[in-house]
Amino acid sequence: MRRYSKEVKIGKVKIGGNNPIAVQSMLNAHSHDIQKNVEQAIKLKEIGCDILRIAIPDKKSIQLIDAIKSKVDIPLVADIHFDYKLALEAAFAGIDKIRINPGNIGNEEKIKQVAKVCNEKDIPIRIGVNSGSIEPHLLKKYSTPTAEAMVQSAIYNVKILEKFDFNNIVISIKSPSVIKTVEAYKMLAKKCDYPLHIGITEAGTETMGVIKSSIGIGSLLLDGIGDTIRVSLTDSPLKEVKTGINILKSIDMYSNRGIEFISCPTCGRTKIDLIKIAKKTEKALKNSNKNLKVAIMGCVVNGPGEAKDADIGITGADGLGIIFKKGKVIKKVPEKNLVAELIKEIESM
Ligand code: SF4
Repeated sequence: MRRYSKEVKIGKVKIGGNNPIAVQSMLNAHSHDIQKNVEQAIKLKEIGCDILRIAIPDKKSIQLIDAIKSKVDIPLVADIHFDYKLALEAAFAGIDKIRINPGNIGNEEKIKQVAKVCNEKDIPIRIGVNSGSIEPHLLKKYSTPTAEAMVQSAIYNVKILEKFDFNNIVISIKSPSVIKTVEAYKMLAKKCDYPLHIGITEAGTETMGVIKSSIGIGSLLLDGIGDTIRVSLTDSPLKEVKTGINILKSIDMYSNRGIEFISCPTCGRTKIDLIKIAKKTEKALKNSNKNLKVAIMGCVVNGPGEAKDADIGITGADGLGIIFKKGKVIKKVPEKNLVAELIKEIESM
């Protein structure tokens, strides 16, 4: 069962409560390069990114907020470290959410100002704890950034905001360790009802990053924990969003799931070039918005049985393929025309 969490509004997107799990990413063009950031934001929105974070390291980068907002309708989150003035400027520039750790802002007067402006403008704040951000007093107590130290750090930061009557809060507690991250989120989930942004930080390049994120994010979601996800890859943010969407699709948590593929691994019974057919079909349908399950199976022995849930699919035979819909054979097609015929059928559905 999904953990109860408060609903928080980030621009037009709501997270927490019963809202769909939102997929987010972060722009990685230089923060002074407006054109590249705008281009990247447009592409990310097109492929299904729900929320977009931008680094705001200095005053000049504040202009990104308006530049992106004038071209793309997507909630923007300002990633700010230490400087409360940047948080205030981002709020006045129309940002939809701020990621800042109040414990890092400095004196209470500064925190109070940020909390006041964000309250007035209904801007949520994400407290983003990671293993490198734990406060010195907690590191002294726990020696290393343990899962418990991260949870205590999150609670410490939450209390600072609550002291100023601010509770429009989202929390993340990430570490590069899947085990430690999962442990920390499970502990934190029991201690508060703020929505949780989940992910594995510094997960690495695509190969390991996808695996670590899928296991970490996937296992938390299956336990009902998590309201928005960010896959962190040393790669294009487009890959982060695609991976995030695929994680959600794989556990039936993506509301607009698009095409879902089922395909067999092939074996000695396969008599058509199924790997090529599967790849071509997937590529041809990558932008399809149809909510369909498509099966690409190698043979009649197991194929139709294993794919009986599919809305449409093919089963390979000797030099040809059989197209079926909801388990019923509709036509037999020579191998060379199989992908084109299958796509035609899908488009007509
Ligand atoms: Fe082999 Fe047929 Fe199973 Fe594919 S569906 S793995 S070809 S037995």
